[in-house]
Amino acid sequence: MAVSVFDLFSVGIGPSSSHTVGPMRAAGMFVDELVGRDMVDHVAEITVDLFGSLAATGAGHGTMPAILLGLEGYRPETIETDEMERRLATIRADGKIQLAGRIVIALTESDMHLQPGRQLAQHPNAMTLAALSAGGDVLYRETYFSVGGGFVVTETSPPRCEAAGAAADDSFRSAAELLAQTERDGLSVSQAMMRQECVNRSEAEVRERLLHIRDVMVACQANGMARGGYLPGNLQVRRRAQDWFVRLDAEDPQRDPAFAEDWVNLVALAVNEENASGGRIVTAPTNGAAGIIPAVLHYALRYTPAGIADPDDTTVRFLLTAGAIGSLYKERASISGAEVGCQGEVGSAASMAAGGLAEILGGTPQQVENAAEIAMEHSLGLTCDPIGGLVQIPCIERNAISAGKAINAARMALRGDGTHRVSLDQVIETMRATGMDMSAKYKETSMGGLAVNVSVNVVEC
Ligand code: SF4
Repeated sequence: MAVSVFDLFSVGIGPSSSHTVGPMRAAGMFVDELVGRDMVDHVAEITVDLFGSLAATGAGHGTMPAILLGLEGYRPETIETDEMERRLATIRADGKIQLAGRIVIALTESDMHLQPGRQLAQHPNAMTLAALSAGGDVLYRETYFSVGGGFVVTETSPPRCEAAGAAADDSFRSAAELLAQTERDGLSVSQAMMRQECVNRSEAEVRERLLHIRDVMVACQANGMARGGYLPGNLQVRRRAQDWFVRLDAEDPQRDPAFAEDWVNLVALAVNEENASGGRIVTAPTNGAAGIIPAVLHYALRYTPAGIADPDDTTVRFLLTAGAIGSLYKERASISGAEVGCQGEVGSAASMAAGGLAEILGGTPQQVENAAEIAMEHSLGLTCDPIGGLVQIPCIERNAISAGKAINAARMALRGDGTHRVSLDQVIETMRATGMDMSAKYKETSMGGLAVNVSVNVVEC
């Protein structure tokens, strides 16, 4: 199996999977190596070099604090957001970290070397960590690439398929292979994905873990709807989800389907406001795009016959189908805004959500593929230009807009018979090629688009 559904949906922290979760994981991998090589007690200095997009937008994405916490041994899956704030306050006051939780090393965010104009060949999100002895000798050095969705690789990482160690028989690496497999074996897309997942774990475990992912998504949206005030950073963006929830709850106490679109918008806003404030989040498949799949899943659970009849089974099928689509983007193109622009983040999430919903609405595998294709076809060329390097504008509203697009794509696909002119494989390749052609200004550097045309003094988006 190349990419698991649990690679695409993983629990972490905001505001960015590639710029917060990935760097924290990379720092954790670095510390694990030091521990494994029994070197921690010999370290006198740690150097951190950030390249390309990580350096350009790291300040707005929380990259440097994430690295400090990762070096202390914290992990994005388990760190408590309150504890994170407390620990960072202490690090900033003392100018020191506790490497692997064991020895004190002088290191702060301002000690990190930022090289925004230098992109390493392998990926625009690169960071090099080095551990030095008291005599200045390099004990250990490694370069990490945060390749999107919280994935981290090194120059020597094996390809994902080898790393997963899975059997090739039931795997699919294109939409054409996926459709062929569903037709040959009489499977739905979610069943094909479940079969892949079961190479590494039992079906019961897959279901349990997916339901946990759903619960974290729901908790995240509830947190977002409970918090008012302003988002962190100098944009002074007011949180809207809390006010919207109070008004909508009063207007629609019976959850009338006429208000479905408003609730979908609200869930997307709430999740992305939580993400922007560094809260607990599920990458789906990235943090910046994390509101789309929970919003469309909310629609599937509240407004479709299958979701109302059996919410747990609907959740599992929805996430497996979305995961199958997402694995194709990860395998064949990219889900990294720094590599292909926002089409790779929000576009991929909309495509995944459209596919998931199409299956829940009773779509055939061909209709699922059609829905996923429609959602991406109309996200092509979407640039990444976050104002102030913060995952707020245009990211938060864009999630709500794209959740609506995903629902529309699924409904359009269900009106057809699955045959269509542009295949999902073709649109994925077009997204990849468009991303390669896109100027670096529009790939998570905040050097173009809204990021340079809108003053950071704006009050609201
Ligand atoms: S513009 Fe899109 S890709 Fe860029 S940070 Fe925002 S959500 Fe992510």
